[in-house]
Amino acid sequence: MSASAGTGRSQSKLRTVAVIGGGITGLAAANRLRDLAAELGRPLAIALFESSKRAGGKIATVLREGFVAECGPDCFVSEKPGATGLIDRLDLSRELIAIKEQNRKSYILHSNRLHEIPDGLMMGAPTRLLPVLTSRLFSTRAKVRIALEPLLARRGNDADESLARFIARHFGREMVDRMVGPLIGGIFGGDPDQLSAHATMPQMVASEHRWRSLTLAMKATRPRRSATDAKPSSMLTLRGGMQTLSDALVRRLGEVVNLGTEVTSLRRESGRWRLSLAGAGEFLAEAVICASPAWVTARLCREIDAELADTLDSIHYNSVATVNFGFATMPACRLPAGTGFVIARDERRMLKAVSFSSAKFENRVPKGGLLVRAFISDSAAGDYDESDLISHARLELADILGLAAEPTLVEISRQARALPRYNVGHQERVVFAEERAARLRGLFLAGAAFRGVGVPDCISSGEAAASEAFACVTTK
Ligand SMILES: Cc1cc2nc3c(=O)[nH]c(=O)nc-3n(C[C@H](O)[C@H](O)[C@H](O)COP(=O)(O)OP(=O)(O)OC[C@H]3O[C@@H](n4cnc5c(N)ncnc54)[C@H](O)[C@@H]3O)c2cc1C
Repeated sequence: MSASAGTGRSQSKLRTVAVIGGGITGLAAANRLRDLAAELGRPLAIALFESSKRAGGKIATVLREGFVAECGPDCFVSEKPGATGLIDRLDLSRELIAIKEQNRKSYILHSNRLHEIPDGLMMGAPTRLLPVLTSRLFSTRAKVRIALEPLLARRGNDADESLARFIARHFGREMVDRMVGPLIGGIFGGDPDQLSAHATMPQMVASEHRWRSLTLAMKATRPRRSATDAKPSSMLTLRGGMQTLSDALVRRLGEVVNLGTEVTSLRRESGRWRLSLAGAGEFLAEAVICASPAWVTARLCREIDAELADTLDSIHYNSVATVNFGFATMPACRLPAGTGFVIARDERRMLKAVSFSSAKFENRVPKGGLLVRAFISDSAAGDYDESDLISHARLELADILGLAAEPTLVEISRQARALPRYNVGHQERVVFAEERAARLRGLFLAGAAFRGVGVPDCISSGEAAASEAFACVTTK
């Protein structure tokens, strides 16, 4: 059976697990606790505390005037099982939609031109040379450097290094500035000169160890497909938007979820954890899963373990702003077929990337309409007010795509300290934080700050923390 524990109830002798944070990590954790308790017939009280009035955290879908506009994630990779497994268990698989096959192309804006990302280029490593050599994205000098990688590549040592240094060692600096930086920086929100190669590209680092050359590694490991094989879809979303997932979890968890309940402090007392809740008293639990952002968890843990708090605080976050522009009818513009574009580092624009949401997935717009989403750089997201961000984004869209029409829908979302940056040394910091947390019996860390920012990784992280917390409270 699963049991919930509302904050207002008197707590019985039932074993209790508290979850701090109702983003996808915390919701997945609470859901797994509920399933484990039911499957193993171990009564358990579960309480999730979410400071804001809605659960889902970064996942937020706005449904308005026939548009499905995402303010946070708009899709997830299908290769990692976290999201598809959970969606299946929630009986939502029929809601899954894949990226439109005919629009798989994407672009890089460089020298004010959109260049198609050369076919067969995987995170900077070419599986086929011809498309790279014929692309106008790279200078002749850079193309020669890329082509010579199998001859020039050297294995690195075991120490972490910046993503920029790692890629430049193999393919030269242009590959960093014009391709890998904007692509990876968009996912991890950060500067490739500071991002960790080990944390952001673990497979590439492993390939280098094994094969020395990344080009040779890509060629050796690329899946062999016959001409008639369909391409497996790697990006999926839900028909009604990503919030379908968090809403389904909230419904399933029922009174386990306490919205508008901020956890303000955490103390260890007589073998239990005492949580102070803003305006809602206190709550006692045998185990606590911290699925809050690292900087919040740092604040909660400072009195308990200052070194753990310092380590969590050293995981920096970028602010993000996105603006959805919806058009009920197709406006005049130069929109190439594809899913969108990222912007090379030397372009000096306020926009970092633009997603052609309605070309990417079905069911995003009223029939015949258009939805595009602009991503705004970290510094501008913090510095400007909303109306300036919107007008600046519109100016840049007009300049790049000729998209000057008046939108039907404008949906801006600003999120301060939203995306954790996995800087050099990230994995060591995570291992250290996990070791410190393991010494505090019953405290578990989970979420985007640690071992993957994507939705599937967050779900897996929440579920793993739930399994550990469940084992901890049921084997006491
Ligand atoms: C704009 C944007 C686009 C993205 N796009 C993609 C994408 O396309 N695909 C993808 O896979 N990933 C994407 N991501 C990343 C992914 O969405 C996030 O990493 C993930 O949703 C984070 O989930 P989380 O539960 O770990 O954290 P959060 O969603 O941040 O949840 C933490 C929760 O804790 C709550 N909280 C904070 N303090 C307290 C407290 N003291 N007490 C109680 N509750 C508290 C917060 O209110 C929040 O709800 C994107 C992220 C952003 C911002």
